[in-house]
Amino acid sequence: MSQMYSRVALIGLGLIASSMSHAMRRAGMTSEIVGTARSAETRETAEKLDLCDTVVATAAEAVVGADLVVLAVPVGAMEAVAREIGPHLEAGATVTDVGSVKREIVAAVGPHMPDGVHFIPGHPVAGTEHSGPESGFAELFDNRWLLLTPLPGTDVEAKERLTAFWQALGSNVDEMEIEHHDLVLAVTSHAPHLIAYTMVGVADDLSRVTDSEVIKYSAAGFRDFTRIAASDPTMWRDVFLNNKDATLEILGRFTEELFALQRAIRTEDGDYLHDYFTRTRAIRRGIVEAGQDTDAPDFGRMGKKP
Ligand code: NAP
Repeated sequence: MSQMYSRVALIGLGLIASSMSHAMRRAGMTSEIVGTARSAETRETAEKLDLCDTVVATAAEAVVGADLVVLAVPVGAMEAVAREIGPHLEAGATVTDVGSVKREIVAAVGPHMPDGVHFIPGHPVAGTEHSGPESGFAELFDNRWLLLTPLPGTDVEAKERLTAFWQALGSNVDEMEIEHHDLVLAVTSHAPHLIAYTMVGVADDLSRVTDSEVIKYSAAGFRDFTRIAASDPTMWRDVFLNNKDATLEILGRFTEELFALQRAIRTEDGDYLHDYFTRTRAIRRGIVEAGQDTDAPDFGRMGKKP
């Protein structure tokens, strides 16, 4: 395995950055990994876990001499980090991010990137509901998509190098236009998270069903919602505040569909419901066929020990 990059700076050491570190080592990359996080506690944990060759106190220090810089902090923190590192970046370095939205990050980070630095936004469409330096694992990106949203005039060689890097971490790499990325992710990730948060909130508010009943009789549907609704509050607050337009558009459509289904239930229009569920079942099959999930019953949970 070639070095690809000689020195990789990980800014933020949570789920995504720690998984990148594990996946880089699994791939046999010999790049030096320098990491930093906001709190001394996270930096200490990262040292204990040996996630990096060197852990430093600030992002400005971390990027010195780095030929790849990865911004792996919540979306709302990207601007401040970019402002801090801008003057310290090496000429010729590539800066990428892993943020879940793209338009607002490009607007926030772009202005702080000096000439001669390649800023290539990215988003690994891979994650779990866990966060922090201990939650990472090498397989997180395996067979998952990494979406690059390059800006006009992006250096081809820098882009190819970053693509090869993510492929070595296990990802399939695709390119997408920035606005399109935010709309697609609003459908596939952001709106579903909001719906899960809402459903769990509804169960919590419903005083006729006690908390213990909700937990005891938690069937697959509700249980899957609770997993999603356990996701990091800071990350998701920032996603919604920074992908407002696309999320609101999808939620508008969602509300219309919900009303249509509600009407079908009230009018006992069984054909409508059956046709609708037949169409949605085909989407699930498509996801399984594309290798993006398992078709084991109950997501393979049944065969597993608790
Ligand atoms: P995480 O586990 O919560 O880790 C976030 C890291 O950022 C921590 O090291 C944290 O430091 C640091 N940080 C938090 N607030 C900061 C601030 N204001 N200034 C500087 N650093 C700060 O998060 P993650 O899940 O790895 O997510 C990182 C990025 O990846 C986010 O932009 C998210 O949208 C994106 N993403 C996440 C997922 C997912 O499923 N989790 C999937 C794809 C993309 P401390 O620990 O010291 O607070």
